[in-house]
Amino acid sequence: MLAARVLADHFDRVTVIERDQLPDGSENRPGVPHARPLHFFFKRGLMVAEELFPGVTADLQAAGSHLLDQGRDFRILYRSGWSPRAEIGLEFCTFTRPLLEATIRRHLVANPKISLLQGFEVAGLAVSGDGARVEGVRIQPRHQDPNVLPEVQTLAAELVVDTSGRGSKAPEWLEAAGFAKPEETVVDAFWGYATRIYEPVDDFQKDWKNLLVMNRPPYQPRAGIIQPIEGNRWLVTIAGVMHDYPPTDEEGFLKFARSLSSPELYRAIEHARPLSRIWGYRRTENRLRHYEKANVPQGFAALGDSVCAFNPVYGVGMTLTGLEALALRKCLRDGKGRLNSHRFQKQVAKLVAAPWALTTGEDLRWPATQGGQITAKVKFMHWYIEQVIRLIPQSQEVFRRFQEVNHMLKPPTALFHPAVLGPVLRQAFGPKRILPMPKEAPARAPQHSTSTSTVAVRH
Ligand SMILES: Cc1cc2nc3c(=O)[nH]c(=O)nc-3n(C[C@H](O)[C@H](O)[C@H](O)COP(=O)(O)OP(=O)(O)OC[C@H]3O[C@@H](n4cnc5c(N)ncnc54)[C@H](O)[C@@H]3O)c2cc1C
Repeated sequence: MLAARVLADHFDRVTVIERDQLPDGSENRPGVPHARPLHFFFKRGLMVAEELFPGVTADLQAAGSHLLDQGRDFRILYRSGWSPRAEIGLEFCTFTRPLLEATIRRHLVANPKISLLQGFEVAGLAVSGDGARVEGVRIQPRHQDPNVLPEVQTLAAELVVDTSGRGSKAPEWLEAAGFAKPEETVVDAFWGYATRIYEPVDDFQKDWKNLLVMNRPPYQPRAGIIQPIEGNRWLVTIAGVMHDYPPTDEEGFLKFARSLSSPELYRAIEHARPLSRIWGYRRTENRLRHYEKANVPQGFAALGDSVCAFNPVYGVGMTLTGLEALALRKCLRDGKGRLNSHRFQKQVAKLVAAPWALTTGEDLRWPATQGGQITAKVKFMHWYIEQVIRLIPQSQEVFRRFQEVNHMLKPPTALFHPAVLGPVLRQAFGPKRILPMPKEAPARAPQHSTSTSTVAVRH
């Protein structure tokens, strides 16, 4: 949707082709099974959404989503202890993903240049007679009678933008059209999620709005989060790495929650009222398609998860997708409305590089991870980030700077600012180590009573 909004500034008509029939309100739908688990926007992601759709933040808030300060409203249990509590000016927007989609979609369809073609699936690319460029997509209705051959139509377009997500078939479409498939890199730490919605107990005493209990590589694989969502509800996601998948039955879910590094999450949900069944999700590998190295034809571009799908535990996907949409805007402006596909995919690759290094680097801390390599650079990054994490419980400054990188407001090199580097060096090599890594997390729990969408096509 963000890409479609950008395209509308340069083309007369933009069609967002979506295989699902889209709900009127904020309901789940089959095309995005990943929408049930936790979704949030880091500050940078929200800024991009607001830039492209002014008023979207206010609309989200009016619909009950929460704008939280990452310092003041969060309690995060790192492997070195709890995060410091003070406002750090980094907003974090929480909601259910269907609410986010519905809110943005309302803004999208208000643009007269943009139309939504629902219930149609993209099945391939249409190419020019000389085979040199993409000139449209082949589409077919989604829910057809299995006894009848699908009626395939061609939708002509000057530019096809594939945003069909992690499961994108664009590499196969390109191959079928005579172009090389992009190479792929996969790094998989075998994370799994289980998610349930709860209504909190009225008098539950807590000093947080959002609770995050992290796991501890390389041996404690379990994590969990409680996120407030619209309707005075909690979205509770528990997660395990290295095939330690959280169960989706009542008893197993609670037992897993109880086994986290802090009892706080379990205490919070113990008496809360479940409002949903428990949903599992396991498609979490980091998957990067190297379009920047491929011979991408003119008339075609790809962005979002269809280029790079991250392990969702790091929460970067939508924010990065937004930044890629802004890169699309810049490339179109530079080309006065014409897109140089190769140049654009190089820009996407540049944007992806740092988050890819950080997320796969973190996943490589787990011994069962497949793919990727523990190079000297990765080892150094492991060591350095470990030092930063050790400092977090005692330094609000380090915490804020670390979060600025997470929120993608600053590049990872910002972690080498003297305000972080100095304490890191003193801690590691100074006469006195400031904070040895505790064996057990301090259980300082508060006391309480209880585009396809997809492919966007412009004509
Ligand atoms: C469990 C989980 C939790 C996550 N949590 C967060 C988070 O907290 N914060 C964050 O920033 N990111 C998060 N992400 C990542 C985020 O979901 C993705 O980065 C984001 O959805 C990518 O958007 P996209 O438009 O590229 O793809 P998608 O959101 O996957 O959208 C693809 C769309 O294309 C449609 N489609 C697919 N194929 C076709 C076809 N052939 N024809 C027509 N339509 C088609 C689908 O129906 C769907 O609507 C999470 C991901 C997962 C898996």
